[in-house]
Amino acid sequence: MSIADKENRIYPWGHKRRFNAYSNYFRSIYGARVQKVSIDAGFTCPNRDGSRGYGGCTYCNNDAFNPSYCLSEKPVSRQIEEGIEFHKRRYSEAVSYLAYFQAFSNTYASLDILKKLYEEALSYPGVAGLIIGTRPDCIDDEKLAYLRKLSERYYIAIEYGIESCYNKTLIRINRGHTFEDAVSALERTAKLGINTGAHFIFGLPGETRGEMLDQAYIISRLPLKTVKFHQLQIIRGTAMEKEFKDNPSDFELFGWEEYLEFFIKFLERLNPSIVVERFTGEAPPRFLTSERWGKKRTDQIVNLIEKRLEELDTWQGRLYEDKS
Ligand code: SF4
Repeated sequence: MSIADKENRIYPWGHKRRFNAYSNYFRSIYGARVQKVSIDAGFTCPNRDGSRGYGGCTYCNNDAFNPSYCLSEKPVSRQIEEGIEFHKRRYSEAVSYLAYFQAFSNTYASLDILKKLYEEALSYPGVAGLIIGTRPDCIDDEKLAYLRKLSERYYIAIEYGIESCYNKTLIRINRGHTFEDAVSALERTAKLGINTGAHFIFGLPGETRGEMLDQAYIISRLPLKTVKFHQLQIIRGTAMEKEFKDNPSDFELFGWEEYLEFFIKFLERLNPSIVVERFTGEAPPRFLTSERWGKKRTDQIVNLIEKRLEELDTWQGRLYEDKS
């Protein structure tokens, strides 16, 4: 195949990028750039308040991932207004926005409270839908039925924190739910036609690199529309920080070069129909105790991964086998 043929190859997701990219996915729906605007609506988490567990997941410090304009004391509409201003300064071309209920567990309240918060967001001009981050054990049929109804008029996605496909890991990081809980939540959500997302972390203690890679096959079989991946970072003030200091040999954190090669192998095995939103995470340096990957921004990381895919002439799903 000539270089020109390779450059002009259209992949199963309908464009020339070598992975099923989130930004292109929304462009295909809305015909323009869509921007997520984060919201902290003041939820808490059942893994912190005792209804599922205490102390939370060992790696979690929500402050490390909350944008500065997100403060739970501010009303939802004010956070959206400030979020839109914040993003407009960076990317002037966004025309539609998705309200991203991000901090803690955003279905962990009565349906009446959820309706008020979600509908306040949806009534803001330019907001085309909701992305709702939550735990797999924090959803029920009543809430799903309401979200299904909303999904007739808006883009609605529930993004579940799953983190690992292995129960031994979920126990170790004190998630307070099993992988089977996650599969059940995804299946019930997808069955109603609501978009499903999931979040996974690579590098969690107790998992081998081979086990991490094998998750590509497990994740590929889940009813998922979108997915986010992060490398493990050790965040200040977490239980994991103490664990890391006490037993550093228990952890095998990814350096950038190793992660790049690992992630390419992972992508090659991932179902091409799953839209990939993130390859890595980046907590602000003041929260980090583990080593940073230089000063690479998210967009630079995406470029480096795409460049490596091109060098190897490979792409998402090249080694995926549909065994369904
Ligand atoms: S990661 Fe999510 S589920 Fe775990 S403690 Fe933090 S907010 Fe709760």
